[in-house]
Amino acid sequence: MVATSMTAAPLIPERPTLERLRAAAAGCQACPLWKLGTQTVFGEGRPRARLLFVGEQPGDQEDRAGRPFVGPAGRLFDEALTAAGIAREEAYVTNAVKHFKWEPAGKRRLHKKPNAREIAACRPWLEAEIAVVQPEVVVALGATAAQSLMGPEFRVTRDRGKLLKVAWASGFLATLHPSAILRMRSGEREAGLQGLIADLRVLAVS
Ligand code: SF4
Repeated sequence: MVATSMTAAPLIPERPTLERLRAAAAGCQACPLWKLGTQTVFGEGRPRARLLFVGEQPGDQEDRAGRPFVGPAGRLFDEALTAAGIAREEAYVTNAVKHFKWEPAGKRRLHKKPNAREIAACRPWLEAEIAVVQPEVVVALGATAAQSLMGPEFRVTRDRGKLLKVAWASGFLATLHPSAILRMRSGEREAGLQGLIADLRVLAVS
């Protein structure tokens, strides 16, 4: 058994493929979140996708289904991709943290933001996915994913929608997480969605 307060790095297979990574991640106990989530929710999509999208963590529905971006935020993400002229088949989607962190609220499981130690523990899985998929552009959806990849000083509000150069991919772009749009007041939601679509359009023509 892997002790807690470690990272997932020792679990990365020597010659990683997505299937090997997925199988290894299924038994990950490198941070305490494995006890909270139903299962590891690994990334999925085209093995050599042009675009690799990174969210924060699986939500309630993703946790039950074992698949990323299948809940309400995933449906909004699909809508934004379509509006931006990007086919989901061009993409690989994953999360910075691969177990659902939540706290009880009556019968509901309320999303709880992963902390820096949990994000760091899970980062080797994300880095391995990027190394295997070799996407042209890595797209961070929200601050957790952006800061996991670019460091704690990165600000999505300041640099969203800009195609940036990085050493580990041809490009990096950050934008809002669809769930942040779902949390907006109803009068602001449409503008939030249009902003997400505008950011994603940069990728359709890049
Ligand atoms: S959240 Fe990541 S590091 Fe923590 S147990 Fe799950 S897969 Fe492992």
